[in-house]
Amino acid sequence: MVGPGTLALHEPRFQGKEASFLMDCLASTYVSSVGAYVDRFESDLATLTGAKHAVAVVNGTAALHIALLLAGVQADDEVLLPTFTFVATANAIRYCQAIAHFVDSEANTLGLDAHALREHLAANTHMKHGVCINRHTGRVIRAVLPMHTFGCPVDLSALLTVATEFNLQVIEDAAESLGSYYKGQHTGTSGIFGTLSFNGNKIVTTGGGGALLTNDTELARKAKHLTTTAKVAHRWEFVHDQLGYNYRMPNINAALGCAQLEQLPVFLAQKRALHDRYKQAFASVDGIRLWSEPAHCTSNYWLQSLLLDEPDLALRDAILAAANDAGLMTRPAWTLMHELPMYAHMPRAQLPVAQSIAARLINIPSSAGLGVSG
Ligand SMILES: *Cc1c(COP(=O)(O)O)cnc(C)c1O
Repeated sequence: MVGPGTLALHEPRFQGKEASFLMDCLASTYVSSVGAYVDRFESDLATLTGAKHAVAVVNGTAALHIALLLAGVQADDEVLLPTFTFVATANAIRYCQAIAHFVDSEANTLGLDAHALREHLAANTHMKHGVCINRHTGRVIRAVLPMHTFGCPVDLSALLTVATEFNLQVIEDAAESLGSYYKGQHTGTSGIFGTLSFNGNKIVTTGGGGALLTNDTELARKAKHLTTTAKVAHRWEFVHDQLGYNYRMPNINAALGCAQLEQLPVFLAQKRALHDRYKQAFASVDGIRLWSEPAHCTSNYWLQSLLLDEPDLALRDAILAAANDAGLMTRPAWTLMHELPMYAHMPRAQLPVAQSIAARLINIPSSAGLGVSG
């Protein structure tokens, strides 16, 4: 929430059946760890994304944690990820006691650069018994974790080719890209797992929430088991057959999610319309442009981004100050992960493009309801 007279960066919108589903959930008394809305939300998500299975969880970070564990990421393994991401992507790797290994992004998609990744791996790793080994640290590089930035899909074909060559598991952080497609395929459905977030600032919210997507029925069963305290089904006994997690999405959050998902097509159309309006407005402004989806990609345009032609932190900060003073909530990109104290000592590639993007990018008010009356 922002003060009066301020335009938020991103506000949720509740104009569908949210209230009626929530009242129905309360009336059922099933507000917590069991209930029909969770099943319905999972099935709606699977239908929407084309994934065979969706498992709803408490938040997107928890979804990443479970995806990494089930992809076989072990303590002291390395996992590749863009330095240009939200901190949750890196934190989930650390929750597995694995090592975050940061790689560069490309300006076109704002996401992981598969070609730079290939060069980095070719120069710094060797394959041993079919496993990719970091030549400098001796550790196994187990997986790659791309993130679809502000809704834009990464170049998945190029990335999947590199992952196959170096035998890396692919987990897609699709927290920001519900409703985004790469060559017609929904993001989060190409790797072993994709993960979603339904935090209050995302395109669809459950208050707090997340989900795992997978096409593997056995992995979906394991994900459900691990996120529900690994309890063995029984009429009365409490038996848990491994270390599990209490990560299940409460039914009341799923009720909100079911209503929100019905609105997704409307949100997508509104965000695209907003993008077109911004595009026109900035077309005649020198030195700055509105970021737009590349060919083969359909972005959900979750957040709209301006990019300065040249990295210029002083200009970027002057624009941020002027806009925020004028009641327009604008934000820079995240501080790059390798610059944060808990990640400064972790392995990394050359990161010139991520550094340039960070010094050029400004996110501007992006709510679906912007410019829509009511
Ligand atoms: C929102 C987000 C997440 C997950 O966030 P939660 O708040 O845990 O749901 C993960 N990665 C990225 C890139 C995100 O934007």
